[in-house]
Amino acid sequence: MSDRDFDLFVLGAGSGGVRASRVSAGYGARVAVAEDDRLGGTCVNVGCIPKKLLVLASHYSEDFEDARAYGWDVEARGFDWARLIANKDGEIQRLNGVYQRLLDEAGVTRIEGFARLEDEHTVRVGERSYSAETILVATGSWPHMPAIPGIEHAISSNEAFYLDRLPERVAVVGGGYIGVEFAGIFHGLGARTTQLYRGPLFLRGFDDDLRRTLAEEMEKKGIDLRFETDPTAIERKDDGLHLTLNDGSSLVVDEVLYATGRLPKTRDLGLEKLGVEMGPKGEIKVDATSRTNVPSIYAIGDATDRLNLTPVALAEGMAFARTVYGGEPTQPDHADVATAVFSQPPIGTVGLTESEAREQLGPVDVYRSSFKPLKHTLTGRDEKTLMKLLVDPRSDRVVGAHMIGADAPEILQAVGIAVKLCATKAQFDATIGIHPTAAEEFVTMREKASS
Ligand SMILES: Cc1cc2nc3c(=O)[nH]c(=O)nc-3n(C[C@H](O)[C@H](O)[C@H](O)COP(=O)(O)OP(=O)(O)OC[C@H]3O[C@@H](n4cnc5c(N)ncnc54)[C@H](O)[C@@H]3O)c2cc1C
Repeated sequence: MSDRDFDLFVLGAGSGGVRASRVSAGYGARVAVAEDDRLGGTCVNVGCIPKKLLVLASHYSEDFEDARAYGWDVEARGFDWARLIANKDGEIQRLNGVYQRLLDEAGVTRIEGFARLEDEHTVRVGERSYSAETILVATGSWPHMPAIPGIEHAISSNEAFYLDRLPERVAVVGGGYIGVEFAGIFHGLGARTTQLYRGPLFLRGFDDDLRRTLAEEMEKKGIDLRFETDPTAIERKDDGLHLTLNDGSSLVVDEVLYATGRLPKTRDLGLEKLGVEMGPKGEIKVDATSRTNVPSIYAIGDATDRLNLTPVALAEGMAFARTVYGGEPTQPDHADVATAVFSQPPIGTVGLTESEAREQLGPVDVYRSSFKPLKHTLTGRDEKTLMKLLVDPRSDRVVGAHMIGADAPEILQAVGIAVKLCATKAQFDATIGIHPTAAEEFVTMREKASS
């Protein structure tokens, strides 16, 4: 045992940091974790969990309308934002407690405060310094707000979860998954919602069929989508926030939410001084085992800007602990990670997009199915479900599976296993479907849409 204070000092008790701390302690390491905010990090406090709760809340407006066709006479007599936020806060507080218990029961020393590195074996928190054989940086990421005049009037996703009241008119700026999700949330809860994105179509990096279908569906719902549009200034006036747009027009709203990307939260950690290699966004450069160029310092999660998702941060934390303390060298596997957008309708996706598949493999077989979900045969709601499989014709392997429609994230989690196992189209076809479901379409698509 070394004479240092700890074997491992972790900066940040979010998704990756908590997992790495607990598992390392389970292997017998003496572990400390520093956190300068609430336990659980982004996902628990201002990310996945509260976001999904708000998505669920916002869906009720359509559910109440649809119930009529199924014989139910229900009328929404109003919506109480304050009650929703209070209930959401209660659940998050409970989760903060769960994280605290998990760390305590694992024997991890919790230290409150902002941590920075003094040297490659020393971390400072407030007035105290702690020595450790190994240091793990798991400090996550933070919203990026562009420097336009009046940006101080805008909020990021961090504040959106704590607004005093639901705004009547909202502009969501940005075309990533967080922007799309918040546009759906605000619209579903009754706000007049405009989404602005400077590019030609949102959700860059997702399959083009899904991107186009989502844009159509959101417009049908009444969300005002404006592509190739970006605010150049924000001004607060008596009647609201006035956004000047790049085409010279203006938009007046009560709240502007910027979801224009996130940057690794790696500033002021003392990393540059120690010569830790970083990329242009401040992302910490690591090798396949999450080790930096300074041998005693590792980094995981959003701070490394590899694949910024909670399950990926967890996998990286797990692989780190196994490698360093479990005697079982493990590299986190970033291939074929299934992921979702909790848009309305939601998206689930795994593997290559059609354009990636064509770029990497040349010709690919495309199977596509678009249909009205059974539920809406009675409600009459004009909402389309789209499913798509991409197959490498040489190996018959399914290299991409994509869906937009109800339950897509739940369905794609299971399809993701098949893709991860390198299943072939013939094996998909040999699988008997569950009827009547939307998911059965994944095993019954026989006609090639194109190759
Ligand atoms: C609105 C939103 C929705 C999202 N939805 C999803 C989703 O649906 N699914 C999904 O998989 N992912 C989602 N994500 C992404 C997910 O939250 C992150 O990928 C994940 O939290 C990254 O984990 P991490 O451990 O790297 O960082 P974090 O969970 O952010 O943890 C970092 C922790 O470090 C602390 N910290 C930072 N600096 C210091 C310091 N110097 N000293 C002490 N403590 C410090 C922070 O306070 C924080 O608690 C979402 C993110 C956002 C913003």
